[in-house]
Amino acid sequence: MVTEILYPVAYARPHEAVHIEDARRGRPHFCFGCDREMVIRHGRIRRPHFAHKAGFVQCEKDNTLHEAAKAFIRQGFLHAVATGGEYQVGYPCEGCEAPISVNVAIESANIASEKTVVKGTRSDLIVFQPDGSPRIIIEVVVTHDLESDTKQRYEEANYPVVMVKPSWETLPDLRRAAIGSRILNIKGDKHRYCNDCRNIQKKKAAARAEEAEIYRRIEQVNGRGPRSPHEPLKPLTEEDLMRIPAYANAKAKAKRLGSGVKRERG
Ligand SMILES: [Zn+2]
Ligand SMILES: [Zn+2]
Repeated sequence: MVTEILYPVAYARPHEAVHIEDARRGRPHFCFGCDREMVIRHGRIRRPHFAHKAGFVQCEKDNTLHEAAKAFIRQGFLHAVATGGEYQVGYPCEGCEAPISVNVAIESANIASEKTVVKGTRSDLIVFQPDGSPRIIIEVVVTHDLESDTKQRYEEANYPVVMVKPSWETLPDLRRAAIGSRILNIKGDKHRYCNDCRNIQKKKAAARAEEAEIYRRIEQVNGRGPRSPHEPLKPLTEEDLMRIPAYANAKAKAKRLGSGVKRERG
């Protein structure tokens, strides 16, 4: 069964994406998918929407969403640059999937659609730095993921590529930010992980170093020098073990759980 889509967006010529909330009567609006003229409908039952003027026509609805998403991102970005505002591009942290976002709307930055910066691939959107070099590529993914050869070309080219999956409901948000579901080629812990994850990693590394230091000292005190695989080590005393944070933590946790059980019983 084919259901009619209540289009929340259309465009006004030449390139202005218009959300239904901002639509003005008497101004011509067109479909992102098929370029046919659209009309504004304010039904009593259905929410306000754009509809094809000729009544129901089948147009490439996936393409419509794709084109509308691109137009909103482009428009949001350009508006932010022009007004000194922010346009955030985001992607999930590799550790916890919380979104990491950066403002890309810096002065004199630019955006282009359907341009080629990676040989053999036309990118949906490319954000350029003020010096004209590509900063980040945005691919709008509606029906299927990137083709594997496109992905490979991007990986070889090494520009970060954010994959944004729009829906009709989230479309208006693209005027302020493009939060992707995935990113390719992001380099450096600073960019790959959120602040929380980086702090946890630092703490873990510090704990590991501390633990190694304690072992080293224990062995020194026992006169064994560095650990040798041929000599079995003397078992550590409880006091030695309690100086190892991981051991002390595990003990404390076990104690907490134990007392919890007792309370439940008692
Ligand atoms: Zn159409
Ligand atoms: Zn994280």
